[in-house]
Amino acid sequence: MNIISFSGGKDSTAMLLLMIERGIHIDRIIFVDTTKEFPQMYTHIEKVKSFIKPHIIETVKIDYDYWFADHVKTKGKNKGRKGYGWPDFRNRWCTSLKREAFLSQVYNYRYNPRKCGYMKKDFDIIEYHGIAYDERRRCAKNRGRNIKYPLVDWKITGKQALEYCYSKGFDWDGLYEKFYRVSCWCCPLSRIGELRVLYHKFPELWKELIRMDRKSFRRFRSDYSVDQLSEKFANENLI
Ligand code: SF4
Repeated sequence: MNIISFSGGKDSTAMLLLMIERGIHIDRIIFVDTTKEFPQMYTHIEKVKSFIKPHIIETVKIDYDYWFADHVKTKGKNKGRKGYGWPDFRNRWCTSLKREAFLSQVYNYRYNPRKCGYMKKDFDIIEYHGIAYDERRRCAKNRGRNIKYPLVDWKITGKQALEYCYSKGFDWDGLYEKFYRVSCWCCPLSRIGELRVLYHKFPELWKELIRMDRKSFRRFRSDYSVDQLSEKFANENLI
């Protein structure tokens, strides 16, 4: 069974379109929605859905706001505390949730991450991940599962993947002209330059970021709080 991990980004979009173009059999396409994607990304995904018919994209949602602010911890040193708050490099709870949401769909909860592998009856499953040739070092972290990386096999770089998507009419309404990496708009792990773009070009999302920040027990980043970033960007020349 061939299962595509589809994020909606340039690499997984290029992989999906090329696989269809090259006649590679696809059984399922799974998109894990963090609910914090850019509005342009949701528009893009609808566009892809229309383009690839009769293939369908299955969506699995993570309730980001619940885990961020409302989930009550039942054990550990933060027992009783509500919400995980902003993720950081040591505590990327949202990335873990995304991964688990995908695996739960693919392996029907049979996947055992502790054993770093899958059960025998899942040997027929092949996951397809859109990792560009110039990022192929990232393939190493998924050892233990049956994963193929078509863009790596085809030596397609991130730049070429984006150009291919553009040639097919997919442009994310310019998101890739503004951001190096297109993922959750509220990600504290974004580059400062990308947060600056968010502040200036997406003021409604920035207001939402401020609202979210009020609910987080963790500071947005070790170097800047959201308020400090607002002040910093407001005092800079407009980009
Ligand atoms: S992009 Fe950032 S906020 Fe979104 S899942 Fe990944 S680490 Fe979490």
